Amino acid sequence: MKDDFVFGVDLDGVCADFYGRMREVMAEWRGVDISTLTEEVSYELPEWGLLPNEYTRLHRFAVTQRSLFLSSNPIAGAAQSIRRLGTEGVRIRIITHRLFIRYFHKAAVAQTVDWLDQHGIPYWDLCFMRDKALVEADIYIEDTPSNIETLQARGKAVIAFTNSTNKHMDPAPIRRVDDWNQAEETVRHQYYTWLRERGRPLPPAPGHQPPDAEEPPDFASPRAG
Ligand SMILES: [Mg+2]
Repeated sequence: MKDDFVFGVDLDGVCADFYGRMREVMAEWRGVDISTLTEEVSYELPEWGLLPNEYTRLHRFAVTQRSLFLSSNPIAGAAQSIRRLGTEGVRIRIITHRLFIRYFHKAAVAQTVDWLDQHGIPYWDLCFMRDKALVEADIYIEDTPSNIETLQARGKAVIAFTNSTNKHMDPAPIRRVDDWNQAEETVRHQYYTWLRERGRPLPPAPGHQPPDAEEPPDFASPRAG
């Protein structure tokens, strides 16, 4: 049985256009023209003039009444890049902090699973975690500044996926990408280095299975226990 190279993937702001969909819901919630809500937001959306504790109520409305996690658009290229990497033998581990409001977990988890299937995003592990560094991965992709900083501080390889919430980070993240083409290349470079270090063959081309693959890409490698 071979080891896996694990890619830890954040969803909101990286794979799912969380802020774009939330902006539509906020316009409805407040009854304002969407053009009055800036797209240049930071984490927790202070630019939209939310009242104290209003974010939690808005978020609950968005998930339970507007299916936020099912109705968000994918970010361009995310599904295709993750599919190619998954086929090449990278183990996709989704790591998301979506369960931060009590008593809406069934809706949040169900919408997440449906969305991942609907957009053809392959994965073997689905982790709902606040402290993402507690979940092992060989490389992570993240957009929230505090998560990027924590992962880096713990010596993890993390790719910062640029959006308005993190582009002003100071000091700048060690690794930063602006789109999924760059993200895919960064992960592939790390993965191929990891394969070479183990004397294992590389996939013949992007999106192809490596020659020593034990199973077709739709089957997980069997594990004991
Ligand atoms: Mg995120």
